[in-house]
Amino acid sequence: MSYRDADVIVAGGGPVGLAAAIEARLAGLSVIVVEPREGPVDKACGEGLMPGALPLLARLGVDPDGMPLAGVSYRDGARRVDHLFETGPGRGVRRTALHSALAARAVEAGVTVLERRVESVEQDATGVSTADLRGSWLLGCDGLHSTVRSAAGMARGAPERLRRYGIRRHAEMEPWGDLVEVYWTPRAEVYITPVAPRLVGVAVLGPAGTDFDAAIASVPELARRLDGVTWATARRGAGPFRQRARRVRDGRVLLIGDASGYVDAITGEGLRLGFDHARAAVASLVGDVDYEREWRRVSRDFRSLTSGLVTAASGPLRAGIVPLAARAPRLFGAIVERLAR
Ligand SMILES: Cc1cc2nc3c(=O)[nH]c(=O)nc-3n(C[C@H](O)[C@H](O)[C@H](O)COP(=O)(O)OP(=O)(O)OC[C@H]3O[C@@H](n4cnc5c(N)ncnc54)[C@H](O)[C@@H]3O)c2cc1C
Repeated sequence: MSYRDADVIVAGGGPVGLAAAIEARLAGLSVIVVEPREGPVDKACGEGLMPGALPLLARLGVDPDGMPLAGVSYRDGARRVDHLFETGPGRGVRRTALHSALAARAVEAGVTVLERRVESVEQDATGVSTADLRGSWLLGCDGLHSTVRSAAGMARGAPERLRRYGIRRHAEMEPWGDLVEVYWTPRAEVYITPVAPRLVGVAVLGPAGTDFDAAIASVPELARRLDGVTWATARRGAGPFRQRARRVRDGRVLLIGDASGYVDAITGEGLRLGFDHARAAVASLVGDVDYEREWRRVSRDFRSLTSGLVTAASGPLRAGIVPLAARAPRLFGAIVERLAR
């Protein structure tokens, strides 16, 4: 048998990498996570865990602190449409709280975490070498701009059009509701997510050049609420969102979460999907699950609904999105439910 440091090397100790590492330990595999940043790792994110993310975390023994999210509310100047989740609440969770909860559980489960960065990937018939380590498999969980995806030759160029970005920060104040509020302005969307008893997440999504303060100022209701507020965190940005992979498995290298390709944060998705990828990837290592097929199955709704919404939001149909949702609340609710589960 050839030498190896662990059965599984996980590149990236973000939420999806840590979830994959715990999954692999629970399946009886030895695991090393390679993460260059010291924890708890923060990231630009709307921080809304959809209801479907909570059972995926619970089966790993992870139950992060946060605020219940009863549903989603779309608003423009004149209209508002709310949908309450049918399967129970989601949760607003600060990324640092999510990271701490996953990291503690990973250590408890016997995962080794090394402070390193993946720069290159080489695989042969018996294993994969990366970051001065050798494993039987490499799980690429290194996010939107994945090094594993490009180093393993699995990257695919993303179209230049519809390039969108996100910026977030946190207002130190009592949350005023339990819905994820999405304010549609002519150019950008502003997401409000309660994440802790005195912390409200504010995320702005839009095309290149979107200005955080200008987006808030363009929504009188929000400008009033956030006037003079103390900002607890600095602005943090991410993007462009759209990233693609030619394939999500190549031999002993599997791409998981944002590293496997991402569409957009417009539907408040990413974490639930990544946890589902992690579950499927580890099942494929220890059983007869076909990862590519299972990845396509669990990603289908996110990819089609999110792509459709981004296309509509980036053209002349944009102004009609909230009016349509308000006129057809059942359709709006059905779409939210498809993404929430
Ligand atoms: C503005 C915004 C709002 C969003 N809102 C939501 C939301 O409300 N709900 C939701 O579910 N999702 C949301 N998302 C999406 C969500 O943030 C991502 O889907 C999620 O973070 C993906 O997790 P991940 O672990 O795959 O990647 P990441 O969280 O990006 O983690 C990747 C990790 O890999 C590490 N890494 C990077 N390069 C290397 C390397 N070379 N070697 C080793 N490690 C490396 C990084 O340091 C990082 O810790 C939002 C995204 C944005 C940008």
